[in-house]
Amino acid sequence: MKVTVCCGIVSLTPFKREVLDFEYNGFQNWMTFGIDKGIYSSYKAAKGWQFKKIKYKEYPLVLWSKLTKIDYKPNSVAPYWIRIRTKLKRGGIWVGFKTKQEMPKNGKLLDSFLTKNNKGNYELRLIFDIFTKQIHTLNILAVDIGDKRLATVCDSLGNKRFLGTEIRKIRTHYLWLRRRLGNKKLLKKLKSVGNKEKRVINQLLHRISKEIVTMALKNKCCIVLGELKGIRKKSYKKLNRIIFKIPYYKLISYIKYKAEKLGIQVYKINESMTSKTCHKCGSTKTKRPSQSLFKCSSCNIEYNADLNSAINIMNRFKDYTSSNRASAYALNSFT
Ligand SMILES: [Zn+2]
Repeated sequence: MKVTVCCGIVSLTPFKREVLDFEYNGFQNWMTFGIDKGIYSSYKAAKGWQFKKIKYKEYPLVLWSKLTKIDYKPNSVAPYWIRIRTKLKRGGIWVGFKTKQEMPKNGKLLDSFLTKNNKGNYELRLIFDIFTKQIHTLNILAVDIGDKRLATVCDSLGNKRFLGTEIRKIRTHYLWLRRRLGNKKLLKKLKSVGNKEKRVINQLLHRISKEIVTMALKNKCCIVLGELKGIRKKSYKKLNRIIFKIPYYKLISYIKYKAEKLGIQVYKINESMTSKTCHKCGSTKTKRPSQSLFKCSSCNIEYNADLNSAINIMNRFKDYTSSNRASAYALNSFT
């Protein structure tokens, strides 16, 4: 699988900075206007390159894997060094960098990127192809993604967790902040509040996905996620603005990414009716007196609604894998 490691370039000398600027700015000219200001010829091959996956304000300079080299120097001013080819300096320049995540131990470096952050400092996005050995899973961990709690988790060993309960509080807080600023027409402030909110939510999503994956790893579980359907049809009109903005797909992709890195299998399963079916008796004669409460009219149990859904997802996966026909679907790993 592909793993991206974000790195910050450190202790850049004025000369190296100049050399990099020349290449980077020249590359912008080349990509935007097709004007060649004498940049290193290999960079020009990036014309027509798709930058769909990475959203930057400027074009990231493509560091072709064949022309790039990384060195590890633990006693130097920077732990890692990368050779970047340039026009102004023959053979390229070596620049030091620090990683924000762990460097993969046995990854193969793929074509990577040199970018600039908001402060104008250079950063690297190193992309590695790493081989992960799938772990043998004995148990199942099911995740129900919802709007009140971001993730309700249960596993076949009987563990239960409610994660991301703070999402609504965060949303409401920022909604309130934005409204207040909106009235005063402080547009610049409004934008920065929006960015802050995005960061806070993103951190939360990372934390939750990490917790889920850690839980799965500890108990040797594969992860089963419900495929989201009709989530937007919910009738909580008042909360619609909040519900709409919950990044379900982002959470799923984080879980998938972190799990695969550790060799944990992730499966998807149709989650329709999992919120309406009683996990105990299978009846669909059920009620939701409140958003979080689930009541079964057939066997009279009262249960947490999200947990009921998560257990149903787990049970459905068990059913699928025990019958041959369906296991082909269920084992079709999440794409
Ligand atoms: Zn029941």
